[in-house]
Amino acid sequence: MTEPSANPLLEHIKRRISLSGPITIADFMNEALAHPEFGYYRKQDPFGRAGDFITAPEISQMFGELIGLWAAVSWQQMGGPSKIDLVELGPGRGTLMSDALRAVRNVPGFSDAITVRFVETSPVLRTHQQTSIMPYGIPATWHEAFDDIPGRAGVPTIVIGNEFFDALPIRQFERGETGWAERLVGVDAGSGELGFVRGRETPVADALVPATLRGAAKKGDIFESCGPAIAIADQIARRLNDNGGAALFIDYGHPHSAFGDTLQAVKAHEYHPVLSQPGDVDLTAHVDFAAISRAMIEAGARTGAVLTQGTFLAMLGIEQRAELLKTDASEEQAKAIDQALARLIAPDQMGTLFKVLIGYGATTTPPPCISGVEG
Ligand code: SAH
Repeated sequence: MTEPSANPLLEHIKRRISLSGPITIADFMNEALAHPEFGYYRKQDPFGRAGDFITAPEISQMFGELIGLWAAVSWQQMGGPSKIDLVELGPGRGTLMSDALRAVRNVPGFSDAITVRFVETSPVLRTHQQTSIMPYGIPATWHEAFDDIPGRAGVPTIVIGNEFFDALPIRQFERGETGWAERLVGVDAGSGELGFVRGRETPVADALVPATLRGAAKKGDIFESCGPAIAIADQIARRLNDNGGAALFIDYGHPHSAFGDTLQAVKAHEYHPVLSQPGDVDLTAHVDFAAISRAMIEAGARTGAVLTQGTFLAMLGIEQRAELLKTDASEEQAKAIDQALARLIAPDQMGTLFKVLIGYGATTTPPPCISGVEG
């Protein structure tokens, strides 16, 4: 061992593996992110400039404001129903929702129609979220999972999720000589440290790799599958179909299913080895937007073409919003606004890596920013 491990979660995972054998990467991610006592999202507030990473709503108020307006126009296009459930998946500190609710205060009827539904597992972050939206006096409820939100007859749903799917556990499958084998996490007999091991080739893995990719696979290719993301996309699509509504997902990822190992660990804005500090580093994987879109379409909902975050925010008028904010700003503030704008939309920053997928119910009027309907 390189240093005495002060990481109780690492010891717990090693013990689990020594008792029952290698675990899936999804099991490892579940322990690392969601262990009730030591999991990354259970024990701390990882956000903000001083934290481990910065998300778009923490970079600038413009992000949440424009998403609020997107939601308001979606609601208007549904005919301005008197009640709407505004769901946010993994709201972090509640910054996006707070900026959104502030931006829509002047849209007649919309604020009065909203019940906020937060899907959040972290007790620490729930407290932040409650504080963030307090000024707006809008009713809010908290839920462990999307499916725990009761559907209300005649009440449509608008779902927002920024950097939610990337935190859900993935499984990885590696192409061998003849088929696919799951990549597992085991303990190296020599060093006693965690390491990746190959499981047996199984037909289950074969079935998970989309047929369009299977034919082109070469030995060593890695396919990632995020079962929980598919399950949630399916639940949301059914809700949008039953009650009407729209969903907006923003995350870093790829518009088409592809091969590659995208599992990564970040702490204090730097990359770390993925297995060595469970609970102390954030673990994420790129989101397969094609898989989410397919799941929604298979459930009968519709989706738009996957957009880049840069294109999406430009369509909503982020440049004009930045100009407006700058009219009342000092020189220094104006510079900060320009920098934030560039971070959100420039192709070499978040503008291209981050993607946007919009879904809506089969009988719902398409929400804004649908270009090229896929289903
Ligand atoms: N949307 C926020 C935070 C993104 S981080 C932002 O953009 O700043 C991921 C968020 O999802 C956190 O709030 C985390 O606690 C929550 N989360 C992670 N896994 C979850 C799960 N399985 N169910 C519900 N929330 C989860």
